[in-house]
Amino acid sequence: MTNAMAADLKTVPYWWDAARPLAVESHLPEEKVDVGIIGGGFTGLSAALTLVKAGLSVTVLEAEKPGFGASSRNGGMVGNLLKGGLGGLISRYGHEKGIAIYNEAIASVSFIKNLIEEEGIDCDLALTGRFYPAVLDKDLDSMKRDFELREKYFDIPEEIVGPNGYAEDVDSKIYKGGLRQHHTGGLHPAKYVKGLAATAEKAGASIIAPLRAGKITKEVEGFIVSTPKGALRCRQLLIATNGYSGDLLPFLQKRVIPIGSTMIATEELSENLVTSLFPTKRMITDSRKMLSYYRPSPDGRRVLLGARPGILPMSPAGEAASLKIALTKIFPQLSSVAVSHVWSGKVAYDFHALPTIGAHDGIHYAMGYCGSGVAMSGYLGHKAALKILGQPEGATAFDDIPFDGRLYYNGTPWFVPVAMVGYRLRDALGF
Ligand SMILES: Cc1cc2nc3c(=O)[nH]c(=O)nc-3n(C[C@H](O)[C@H](O)[C@H](O)COP(=O)(O)OP(=O)(O)OC[C@H]3O[C@@H](n4cnc5c(N)ncnc54)[C@H](O)[C@@H]3O)c2cc1C
Repeated sequence: MTNAMAADLKTVPYWWDAARPLAVESHLPEEKVDVGIIGGGFTGLSAALTLVKAGLSVTVLEAEKPGFGASSRNGGMVGNLLKGGLGGLISRYGHEKGIAIYNEAIASVSFIKNLIEEEGIDCDLALTGRFYPAVLDKDLDSMKRDFELREKYFDIPEEIVGPNGYAEDVDSKIYKGGLRQHHTGGLHPAKYVKGLAATAEKAGASIIAPLRAGKITKEVEGFIVSTPKGALRCRQLLIATNGYSGDLLPFLQKRVIPIGSTMIATEELSENLVTSLFPTKRMITDSRKMLSYYRPSPDGRRVLLGARPGILPMSPAGEAASLKIALTKIFPQLSSVAVSHVWSGKVAYDFHALPTIGAHDGIHYAMGYCGSGVAMSGYLGHKAALKILGQPEGATAFDDIPFDGRLYYNGTPWFVPVAMVGYRLRDALGF
């Protein structure tokens, strides 16, 4: 590999070149507010917007800067696939519930499309489609099975293509075919979250950042949230901290598993080269257990790729080198291209591998998007807001899904590296 790293490798998201998260000057309100929200990413800001539009007073506490978490670091891929597919959902939750859950995943894509368009958020949203290439023949078989099942219940513009049918999606020779969807696509996540914060503020939400929420105490009517600058008193409380939840609430700490994901961006390339790799500008996520997801940048001048760099912690330069190897396996034509940016963020899983929404001791939460939250987090943030407002539309198929912890888990995901060794073996040996 030649010229793998730019001399001035940046270790912040490529997205921040155009939309860096900024601190917000604001003071804690003296009065009790209707709703306090902890976490200023897609979930918290979407909830805030719905709540202020309904006339409630809302204060968002963000420990860093609005969008600083996964919301300004992700791949910007907008989609509706859920872990295990429709077949997995039906076998776990029954026919009706499985279909209802999937239906809402599809609805989440229309929800954020409408939100972005109605609020005029400038974030390079382009529903150019997504392609899910199959690395193994058996991956293609299972994609086909779930596709055929979905065809019975949904009218989604999608198709399965074989090994000679995906030239319009990606110029790589390593796949057995895959699933193509036309109604999904991509956006610029840092512009989206910045636009969402500005829209929520303009509508009347108060965002305070940086200000970390600490101890939460219940009072007769509502909650007191302690912070280094004093207390926030609120009638209702939503926690929207996803992979950054830490020990804020032991109930969540025992159920939510934070997992790191890393991305790289290449140096600027010629538009012709990027177009030759992604002729239709689709977002790509492969079928490996330790998957790679990659895309052209919205301006069509770079390639961005995300993956898990390794099992043991490594330096940003080491992570960049590891992801560059993954990129070159897909596109040998990029072997001499330099990496300009490398960055990481945290996603959140839970033990049922589905997004979760609910309330514990009167405290609302929405999180656990399992690495696919660009559409779902805004959608469930909105649903959490409707629940707070007491509106029946707050009901969702994601309600009532068991949200259990495990005896062996208290917030330290020691088993993740062990699982990764297993996944890597499965990917390498193809079983
Ligand atoms: C590298 C990467 C790539 C990804 N790619 C994709 C993709 O292409 N498509 C997709 O659908 N999803 C993707 N995701 C997942 C997606 O980004 C997340 O699901 C989504 O951003 C979650 O939004 P959120 O608002 O719930 O959480 P976050 O955006 O993580 O926000 C949580 C916020 O809570 C704040 N916080 C935490 N504790 C406190 C506290 N005590 N007080 C105050 N604030 C606090 C944090 O500072 C943080 O800003 C990716 C994630 C990563 C990390």
